Amino acid sequence: MSEIHNVVIIGSGPAAHTAAVYAARAELSPVLYEGFMAGGIAAGGQLTTTTEVENYPGFPEGISGPELMDKMRAQSTRFGTKIITETIAKVDFSERPFKLWPEHKLDKDPILAKSVIISTGATAKTLDIPGKDNYWQRGISACAVCDGALPIFRDVPLAVIGGGDSAAEEATYLTKYGSTVYVVHRRDELRASAIMAKRLVENPKVEMVWNSVIESAGGDDKQIRNITVKNVNDGSSKTLDVGGLFFAIGHKPNTDPFVGQIDLDEEGYIKTVPGTARTNIEGVYAAGDVQDKKYRQAITAAGSGCMAALEAERWLSEQD
Ligand code: FAD
Ligand code: NDP
Repeated sequence: MSEIHNVVIIGSGPAAHTAAVYAARAELSPVLYEGFMAGGIAAGGQLTTTTEVENYPGFPEGISGPELMDKMRAQSTRFGTKIITETIAKVDFSERPFKLWPEHKLDKDPILAKSVIISTGATAKTLDIPGKDNYWQRGISACAVCDGALPIFRDVPLAVIGGGDSAAEEATYLTKYGSTVYVVHRRDELRASAIMAKRLVENPKVEMVWNSVIESAGGDDKQIRNITVKNVNDGSSKTLDVGGLFFAIGHKPNTDPFVGQIDLDEEGYIKTVPGTARTNIEGVYAAGDVQDKKYRQAITAAGSGCMAALEAERWLSEQD
């Protein structure tokens, strides 16, 4: 029979690596499946898609996202975490030990685990408009709270796409920096909760662009300078001069392999018991953006990874 691991960690962002450091230092010999372009993102997770991270404590000068993730990975291996560059495609949590199968090995014997920490993250949705790839991270972002304070976004008009709570929150946040914040929404009614919607539309720096969809982003090859939006009612197009564009059209949690195996909410996020990393399956924990649609920050992901490892350690000690 195959070896039964104490803890298998799935994922490779701040939650996964923090869980790995704690589990390894607790001498649980964790095995971490970091994925191979899982969810379309390189091992290391969402921060590999950004430039400067300025709000992760301990780096007063800021640090590039990929470098921060390299450091987290190095810290995991330093304490003995075994890292495997494969994507987990299927699990069976119906009995213990839990069973996991990597992509391309679905017909092989499963990996066996006494406990599992799921930290597969989420992927910010964007729109494949012309200009997006040219100006991604050169004025185009999917995280206002992360990038909004950068100097390029100061005192210039900015645009936010979306009409939900994220769009309302991010646009309101951006009014601290931008001269005007256009909120481009495809309907004439916000999806955001009443209180956040009110705060948004009453902000004097916000200009709503109703019934409109973005068509393209243009610029000067260094940075985005404008967007073109189309009114869906009359088909007319107009150009808005902007120095920044933020997508806030939702996230997709990376939970496909867990459908039917664990309780997910209506949007596909893993449900955890509030204030803990516990899921509805004893011995299976979830940490990071895969279970958090509110804060979505590296530090909150890392904090919940720590919680998951401590809970797994305690639970395992009670099993023997
Ligand atoms: P993620 O970072 O989402 O990583 C999870 C990874 O696990 C996946 O990307 C994939 O590689 C892997 N994976 C997925 N499925 C599987 C599977 N089935 N098997 C194996 N592996 C799998 N936050 C900040 O605090 N500061 C910032 O400046 C900041 N900037 C950002 C900029 C951008 C452009 C974006 C998109 C996000 C930014 N964030 C920032 C948010 C931050 O990146 C996330 O909150 C954080 O990375 C979430 O960490 P996580 O551990 O939950 O997983
Ligand atoms: P939502 O799915 O709630 O909203 C997405 C928005 O983007 C909608 O207005 C939608 O338009 C629009 N949209 C989606 N796809 C497209 C597209 N292809 N083109 C143009 N527009 C598009 O996502 P959020 O991230 O805003 O919120 C997710 C969850 O997290 C919600 O439950 C929310 O309440 C919660 N949340 C809570 C916060 C808080 O309480 N502080 C902060 C942020 C999120 P349409 O309305 O027409 O469908």
